[in-house]
Amino acid sequence: MTQSSYHYDVLVIGAGHAGTEAAAAAARLGAKTALLTSNLDTVGQMSCNPAIGGVAKGQIVREVDALGGLMGHAIDATGIQFRLLNCRKGPAMHSPRAQADKKAYQAYIKHQIEQQQNLDLRQETVIDLLTENVEGQTRVRGVSVVGDALFVAPTVILTTGTFLKAIMHTGEAQTAGGRAGEGTTSGISGALARLGFEVERFKTGTPARLNAKSIDYRNLERQPGDEKPQPFSFLTESLDSSDQLPCHIAHTNHAVHELIRANLKRAPMYSGQINSTGPRYCPSIEDKVVRFADKTSHQLFLEPEGRNTGEVYVNGISTSLPRDVQDQMFAMIEGLQHAQIMRYGYAVEYDFCPPTQLWASMESKRVAGLFLAGQINGTTGYEEAAGQGLIAGLNAARKVAGKEAWVPTRDQAYIGVLVDDLVTAGTDEPYRMFTSRAEYRLLLRQDNADRRLTGVADELGLIDAARRERFQTKLDQMARANQLLKAARCDKIPGDVFLRRSEVDWDEMCRRVEGLGRIDAEAAQQVLYDTKYEGYVTRQKMEVEKQHRLASKRIPATFDYDAIGPLRHEAREKLNRVRPLNLDQAKRISGVTPADLALVLTRLEGKK
Ligand code: FAD
Repeated sequence: MTQSSYHYDVLVIGAGHAGTEAAAAAARLGAKTALLTSNLDTVGQMSCNPAIGGVAKGQIVREVDALGGLMGHAIDATGIQFRLLNCRKGPAMHSPRAQADKKAYQAYIKHQIEQQQNLDLRQETVIDLLTENVEGQTRVRGVSVVGDALFVAPTVILTTGTFLKAIMHTGEAQTAGGRAGEGTTSGISGALARLGFEVERFKTGTPARLNAKSIDYRNLERQPGDEKPQPFSFLTESLDSSDQLPCHIAHTNHAVHELIRANLKRAPMYSGQINSTGPRYCPSIEDKVVRFADKTSHQLFLEPEGRNTGEVYVNGISTSLPRDVQDQMFAMIEGLQHAQIMRYGYAVEYDFCPPTQLWASMESKRVAGLFLAGQINGTTGYEEAAGQGLIAGLNAARKVAGKEAWVPTRDQAYIGVLVDDLVTAGTDEPYRMFTSRAEYRLLLRQDNADRRLTGVADELGLIDAARRERFQTKLDQMARANQLLKAARCDKIPGDVFLRRSEVDWDEMCRRVEGLGRIDAEAAQQVLYDTKYEGYVTRQKMEVEKQHRLASKRIPATFDYDAIGPLRHEAREKLNRVRPLNLDQAKRISGVTPADLALVLTRLEGKK
């Protein structure tokens, strides 16, 4: 039989959230790219919750968009409910989140990929990695696929998510597969091990989906979208507020918790059937009942999965308990007594590669030209996957073009924090982004992602003329507003100084300064935040610089981490366990962030 072979610059394996961003970014830079995925009907599929964004994750989506990525406009086009979370807090904490029409989102992403120049989308299952040895260095050469064909390229990006040697668990029942209804792949795990990569295992879980017609919504709290929904993409003018669907809130109760306790021995996490680590911050309901034993109730969010489906995702009750226990659990919850389960919850265990084996470009240290992005690196979440995918795709294309890698820094993007955390400290549990991981939170706001990244994206060749023009118009508008403010006198002081007063808002400035009311709302908001938070940002930068200088400061063996009130639970637990000798050692503990270190340092220096 003749073996077919196909030649490309960049091969991307897996069309999930990392793979689609990686392929699109590489193709935007002009690299001849192929995106190979096991099933063309699951391109851009949401394996778990039908939502994009959320705290710290929403900021990443805005950054992906500012870099010309897909996720922002895909959710704007297919969202069914939009909310800006934490809007009562300062702008550093504002985080956009949207419920997606899951199927429409997937179709939108697939269509974008199909339309992208320089990009071929193909249904292929990769079974092995091809490498060669050139002057003592192992380099990737391509992949082989089911059906005896080869894809040859100098760069390959693996974005295979939860599919490597994956096993799904629902109670005692175990099925091979990375996602309900799909299979698993083992060839890539074998190839990685053969090439000398460390491969470990994590687990994650998902809740049941219910049929909306069987839910009694009358006594459940209704959660509508925002009256003025904010788009994710800097290119979307506005969203239709009247076209949103509500979510609802239900609660577990004492009886449900008792039922779970009585059946813990049948839960794979507690019976010993699953040994791998899951995301501690996204616990299953059985974990919640054990870890927070004094709580008598947990909130459940009923999230519609789309406009043309009755499936409802029950956020907050992820579980791998057996079917009969899941049936009984819902029967005990107000509003869900007659709920019909359409898909049962399950947990999945899968292989991942500890990410300390990568350079910050996402290229592996061991095999030149082989990049890894997304859940295969031990992360969890669509947004974390998308951010890594974009960086891997960009850098694979740059490598082919003989250019240096580009990676955002920690003070430039949450994506920079994500990549730096992964490759420097690795992770001993599925990694998700939190605002507390970023020490420059006031700089890394969701509202200014374009000002942080679109200029550099333009230099890199990642964005098109429409985005460039729109961004330039915003900068021009901001410059005009600053000019008007500086020139104006309000109560005998310059307008920009007057605006710093806490009681003064933009509307008042518009009444006082001729022409200011004509400034576009987005530009006006930027000028307002720049002015109001200038002092805080400067102070934060000084704090971080000081932290760098003092990184080697010694920590006494008896140091009391429990006395630092705002220290995150995860950091406190790990610092107490490791008891680092100095801040430098503390810095290298996985899960301890620079923001945590700043708190330790403040305490070491004897301040509150
Ligand atoms: P995926 O989205 O998994 O995409 C991988 C792609 O690779 C798929 O298209 C697959 O078909 C393809 N592929 C795999 N092997 C091959 C091969 N050999 N050849 C060709 N194609 C291949 N995230 C959260 O943030 N919160 C949660 O609560 C949560 N729960 C989850 C529960 C479950 C059960 C699962 C499965 C995932 C969950 N996730 C959760 C994780 C989230 O789905 C992932 O983080 C995200 O989808 C990762 O994106 P990715 O692009 O890395 O991989």
